[in-house]
Amino acid sequence: MTLSTGESTLVLMTSLRPNAPPLRILLGPGPSECAPEVLAALARPTLGHLDPLFLSLMDEVRAGLRAAYRTENELAFPISGTGTAGMEAVLVNLLERDDAALVGVAGYFGARLAEIARRVGARVTEVRGEWGRALSPDDMRRAAGGKRFKILALVHGETSTGVVADLAAMRAVADELGALLVADCVTTLGGMPLEIDAWGVDGAYAGTQKCLAAPAGLSPVTLSARALASVAARKTPITSWYFDLALVKSYWSQDRAYHHTAPIQNIYALHEALRLLFDEGLAARWQRHARHARALWAGLTQMGLALLVPEAERLVPLTAVRVPTGIDEARVRRFLLERYSLEIGGGLGELKGRIWRIGLMGAGSKRANVELVLSALRAALAEQGWTAAADPLPAVHAAYANA
Ligand SMILES: *Cc1c(COP(=O)(O)O)cnc(C)c1O
Repeated sequence: MTLSTGESTLVLMTSLRPNAPPLRILLGPGPSECAPEVLAALARPTLGHLDPLFLSLMDEVRAGLRAAYRTENELAFPISGTGTAGMEAVLVNLLERDDAALVGVAGYFGARLAEIARRVGARVTEVRGEWGRALSPDDMRRAAGGKRFKILALVHGETSTGVVADLAAMRAVADELGALLVADCVTTLGGMPLEIDAWGVDGAYAGTQKCLAAPAGLSPVTLSARALASVAARKTPITSWYFDLALVKSYWSQDRAYHHTAPIQNIYALHEALRLLFDEGLAARWQRHARHARALWAGLTQMGLALLVPEAERLVPLTAVRVPTGIDEARVRRFLLERYSLEIGGGLGELKGRIWRIGLMGAGSKRANVELVLSALRAALAEQGWTAAADPLPAVHAAYANA
């Protein structure tokens, strides 16, 4: 269409193609497959964000998030935005200019935490560690050098490397530093044991598109009473209006004060995802993720592939696999996508080109996916002349038989 305004003539596209995405099998670092019930929830009619029916749904979502996080924290609700929005929200509320922050950086998301803390104006001490290994409490103590810190922040499940952190052990370090403990739980919430209260985590955020099996777009956050007291004692206002958790809380609590329009259908989807989670049972869900991850590890090892992370430090929902020498890793991923409609992830940052990342998250954590990804990977590697040491499936069957 051509529209003349006298000033200019614009030629703009006014017809778009219908979108008909194929069904992908999503076994990367996220997004993961949405449960069908969750997709159906997204198609339900819109309610107003102050409709009484919607308000009672919000109360259930808050209660569900508390249970999933294993906390009695008063503040527990989803931020409108993806996991990174939750990261930013927690840091911008807990940190003021010149506050000291000790941040664990042994992967891409740890680096992002440190970068956001710096942008908030904090004095950041990075605790650098090898990508693919967990930071130890002593690594933290050494970097802290006997000084005190406002927060100790680290990633619980580092999706860029496939490493899980021991948060309970980090609590002891935070106590020595006089610090609040902040944890990135984007990949772990709903996928492996996470105990906000028992481990003494003061600030946590997550995402909906990983082990909760919902679409991206919300970030469940929670702050402890201690963290809230620290926010109340701030000398300066929070520099972000949208992420000021006290303001957002006045919408999510009984005040029901308008702050911003809640993404209604995303909240439906999260509610449905939480409903499915508790139908299954939180512990049963953690066990399911662990069972399928262990079967995957057995199959990969049997094939002759090496895993990046030692078993004791391995994240359950995401497995990092070393790319064998001479293999074009991007070509493998292209082969999987074209031949099997199957997506896995490549490496990020310093692990780019060196690993694949296989996610078994939420609805995607199932035996059919374990067997498919192993068989497909074997075919993709064979296409480049790499011969598997053995058929992976007998080891997989044995792992399930022993589980
Ligand atoms: C995915 C992820 C994020 C970022 O979440 P987005 O939803 O992409 O903003 C942060 N931390 C970890 C550990 C993640 O896995």
